[in-house]
Amino acid sequence: RVHTDSHITTLQRVMVQAGMNDDTAHDHILSSEYSSLLALEFNRNPIVDDEAAFDIHPPPVTQDKSKLALRPPVVTIMGHVDHGKTTLLDTLRSASVAKGEAGGITQHIGAFSVPVKGEVDRSITFLDTPGHAAFTAMRARGAGVTDVVVLVVAADDGIMPQTREVLDLVRKDDNVKLIVAINKIDKLGADPEKVERALLAEDVQLESFDGDIPCVHVSGLTGKGLDQLVETISLVAEMQDLRAEKEGPVQGYVLESRMQKGLGPVATVLLLRGSMSPGNHLICGNTWAKIRRLTSPAGSTVKTVYPGEAVVVSGWKEVPGAGDEVLNGTESAVKKALANRIRKTETEATLQDVDAINNSRREERGRREEEVAQAKLARRGQRGGRVQAGTAGVKEEEEKDVLKELRVVVKGDVSGSVEAVAGAIQGIGNHLAHVKIVATGVGEVTESDVMRAKAAEGMIVAFSVKAPNAIESMAVGQGVSILSSSIIYHLMDEVKERVIKLLPGTF
Ligand code: GDP
Repeated sequence: RVHTDSHITTLQRVMVQAGMNDDTAHDHILSSEYSSLLALEFNRNPIVDDEAAFDIHPPPVTQDKSKLALRPPVVTIMGHVDHGKTTLLDTLRSASVAKGEAGGITQHIGAFSVPVKGEVDRSITFLDTPGHAAFTAMRARGAGVTDVVVLVVAADDGIMPQTREVLDLVRKDDNVKLIVAINKIDKLGADPEKVERALLAEDVQLESFDGDIPCVHVSGLTGKGLDQLVETISLVAEMQDLRAEKEGPVQGYVLESRMQKGLGPVATVLLLRGSMSPGNHLICGNTWAKIRRLTSPAGSTVKTVYPGEAVVVSGWKEVPGAGDEVLNGTESAVKKALANRIRKTETEATLQDVDAINNSRREERGRREEEVAQAKLARRGQRGGRVQAGTAGVKEEEEKDVLKELRVVVKGDVSGSVEAVAGAIQGIGNHLAHVKIVATGVGEVTESDVMRAKAAEGMIVAFSVKAPNAIESMAVGQGVSILSSSIIYHLMDEVKERVIKLLPGTF
């Protein structure tokens, strides 16, 4: 129920701020900040239930993995530029389509699955993310999604800088097994044995030299040795005993995402744990999906996806980011978590805005103060010339230029919020009147806060903390005002009002 024009204006402002504009045809989730703002505008006291707004987190890791189901290994092909990664992936991918469903399309979606010859229900998931961008993003977050790295070394080129980079990367990660593929063996002048010796010199303990790192000779161009490569990967994976929760909560990562005609935003998701089906609700970054369709890398519709598999998911509200984590939950849990994430992002953005505004204000104030000081010097110079000029006049001028300060004691529920509030209100004002923080502290408003504010002839700003009744009446007695709210914008607006009142000519 809207009562006054100002209510309507606020409602419109909040809707626009929340990105609704004139779009009332779709569902929108209001962050707690905006809904609190609305509640306040209508003279209601908002209570933000943080407990209910909790985010969705990845499920805990099962300690005893032996009872879990086996899953396909996830393989990344890496190596120096031009050593044949793309060619190798293309040949493997087309082989997978030929062996897989008839009529499948060789579409690039960031991953594909290759069946293991002679084994029922065994397959290998290859990642072919361009430039390994998502791979790097996921690694940066500490998410190990790759089980096996196939290091491609061209037989006619040998060890190059990026070859060493891959070796360093794999050595740092105990969960990743290395397989070397010496490529382009079809080429005239190719010398795979020479490459092997060079690898040994780099301390790569190949099996052919009694070490434990398998090495396969292949040609991505002719397909020679690829069956052996797939078999080797399968054997290595078997020893890794890769298992994951086949049921329960979902944890996965976006390998690639884009807008697709007729389907809207789609994302290739590599599933690490749990299972997902159409109709399930997912959350990823600041977007969510009710899964509309799941499409396998070979282009067929699938009913359920299991760990170790990659699949194209449609039904997203917005295109999710590559490398972002995918989790699931009930519809209401996903929406609550989303509202929470959006609120966090907005608060961070607001604080950054506030920082930027404060910095420019500070600079501006510095400039103005400099100007005032210069002008004063100039005036003094003029007066100095006239012998009869009295000093009283100069004092009066100086007093007029004195900055008016709104002195504030900031209290808050946790140190992070105290800093945030102090940062947000500090620097409100201009060269004539501004805020000065005289003290900050965590916890409810105390007698000493009131006394400190009184001594500074200032006020108290309390964020998400209360003042006990006794303290409140003491503050009233001392003429100290306490401003309390759990909404940062509300506090900022109120402080701004008070600073404006300090300006000369404002009553
Ligand atoms: P990437 O940069 O590692 O992805 O390398 P590409 O797959 O783009 O291959 C670089 C060049 O090497 C291309 O001209 C390929 O045709 C060629 N090439 C790749 N694999 C082979 C191979 O097994 N034999 C031969 N003769 N040429 C290859």
